[in-house]
Amino acid sequence: MDRLPGPLREVAEHLAKLPGLGPKSALRAALALLKFPREQAEGVGRSILTLRERLCLCGTCASLAESDPCPICADATRNREQLCVVSEWDSLLALEEMGLYRGLYLVLGGLLSPLDGVGPSALEFDLLRKRLDSGQVRELILALGSTLDAENTASHIKNLATQGYPGVGVSRLAQGIPMGAEVKFMDRETLRQSLMHRQAV
Ligand SMILES: [Zn+2]
Repeated sequence: MDRLPGPLREVAEHLAKLPGLGPKSALRAALALLKFPREQAEGVGRSILTLRERLCLCGTCASLAESDPCPICADATRNREQLCVVSEWDSLLALEEMGLYRGLYLVLGGLLSPLDGVGPSALEFDLLRKRLDSGQVRELILALGSTLDAENTASHIKNLATQGYPGVGVSRLAQGIPMGAEVKFMDRETLRQSLMHRQAV
C-alpha cells in the first residue's frame, strides 16, 4: 500500500483492519467509497461516528440495541419461560432470522476459555443468575456451538442451573450430521455426537 496516494492509503489501511478484508479487498472498497457522491460519503462517515452513541447493551439480555430493554425483551408476546443462551449477538440474529423461536435470550458475550484467561466474571453470568432468580424461566436452551470452549461453558451453565435452580430444565441444540451430508464423510466427533443424540424415528 506504500505507493498509494496518502488519503487513499489511509482509508484502505483502516478498512483492512475489518474482519474478512485483506489489503486488496480493502483497497477495492476504498476505491468504491471514492466513487460515492459527496452526500453519500458523508452519510457513511456520520453513521460510523454515531454507531457507538446510538447503540446500547440491553440490561436484560445484553444484546446490542437502540433501546433498553431491547425490542425482544420488551415484546409481551414472547414466551418468558424459555431462555436461550448464546455466546455472541450474531447467533441471536441467526436464530431470529429463522423466526421459529419465540422465547427470550441472554447473550453471554463470549465463551469460557481458561487458556485465554476468560473466566465467568468476564461474561454475563450475573445477568444469567438474575434472569433465573426472577423465577420466570422454566427452560434454559444452550445454543453455544460445539467447540471445546462451548462444551465447557455449557457444562458450567448446566452445573449452575442444577445446583441453584432445580425447577429449570436445561437443553441444548441437537448436534450431529448436517442436512445433505453423508455418514461416510463425517468426522469422528460429529459422528459420536450424532450417535449420542440420536432420535427415535
Ligand atoms: Zn434484551
